[in-house]
Amino acid sequence: MIKPNPLVMIPGPTPIARSVMEQLGRETISYNDLRFSVEFKGLIEDMKSLWRCEDGMVFIAGGSGTMAMEMGISNTASRGERVLVCSNGFFGDRYVNICERKGFDLDVIRAEWGKTVTTEEIEAHLAKRPSSVVVVTHVETSTGVEFPLREAASMIRAGHPDTLLVVDGVASVGGAEFYMDWGIDIMLTCSQKCLGAPPGLGAVWASPRAIQKRESMPTIAESYVDFVQWIPVMKDTMKYWGTPAVNMVWALREGVRLIKEEGIPERDRRHRLYAEAVRRAMGALGFKHKAPIELASPTVTVFLYPDEGIDDAAFRAAVYDEGAQIAPCQGQFLGKGFRIGHMGNITPSTIVSLIAAVERGCVRQGIKIELGSALAEAQRVLTGV
Ligand SMILES: *Cc1c(COP(=O)(O)O)cnc(C)c1O
Repeated sequence: MIKPNPLVMIPGPTPIARSVMEQLGRETISYNDLRFSVEFKGLIEDMKSLWRCEDGMVFIAGGSGTMAMEMGISNTASRGERVLVCSNGFFGDRYVNICERKGFDLDVIRAEWGKTVTTEEIEAHLAKRPSSVVVVTHVETSTGVEFPLREAASMIRAGHPDTLLVVDGVASVGGAEFYMDWGIDIMLTCSQKCLGAPPGLGAVWASPRAIQKRESMPTIAESYVDFVQWIPVMKDTMKYWGTPAVNMVWALREGVRLIKEEGIPERDRRHRLYAEAVRRAMGALGFKHKAPIELASPTVTVFLYPDEGIDDAAFRAAVYDEGAQIAPCQGQFLGKGFRIGHMGNITPSTIVSLIAAVERGCVRQGIKIELGSALAEAQRVLTGV
């Protein structure tokens, strides 16, 4: 049998559109060749306007999402300042770890895995312990939970106008709808998730308040991720700080062009439809999604096995052999289930192929299912029948 690459149905990297891949094959030119500079500038302007950050700034730099997390917090809080991190799981805890190294007066609220820190909890906490910065994760990839971002952002803006809101949007930007004008000060992501490009670039949106905050801070310990180093480059892409990843910038530019063409509201609607198709399909096979439905992420879903009898690694390997790669769980859920990324530039055909591969994987593993039952559920959701 021929062995094509499996579908990459994990929370990043995601399937890459041909037009995005083609950008990587272009002949590399200098970062200060005017032709590149104009294209880079266009990307920055599109990212600002699409997510309503016209008066703020966008920073694009080589690195992964974790680099963007570091950039986001390093520029908004100084040693000794009070920072509240709300953690809904593995990546929230990663942000706690990043903050612990920076000498903040750090407060942490942790949700039970599969739930979210609520707006009310944040409000009650801030009433007692006002913070310079609140950090949240828009979509927590380890649990598939979507944080109530719009509600929390307006609460913070109204009740604590001096507090900056930093959002890890790595698993949401380009999938779930949000806009900077909801009251977000820092939004961050990277190229390989819902933006639909290969791994390699981090991106950070900063509100005018966030830029003012950095400008009011003394020199920060970090150099590469310092806004002050990058501001001249992001305003005038002929300038130099660290060499831009030329071909990756082109790839991201094409990824963002596809998002612009589709439109953010449509992109959100499409992701939520696919999420429902995947949930219903997996439900038909006996896999329960962990997040409560009202918090279910549009971009990634965590499923738990119905019983202890399923060998996690062998099950995922069987699905891989059948043509789709799904991800292991993390942290508390490790070994107890799997994660499916349904994000980026995918179509109903991608979803149906994924589900068919999971069904065949079940059969190979001797898991009792009714063949075609998951596909039928997905097809109903996708067709609206
Ligand atoms: C993937 C992910 C990260 C980390 O991104 P890397 O590119 O792996 O560094 C951070 N936060 C969330 C929510 C993620 O899904």
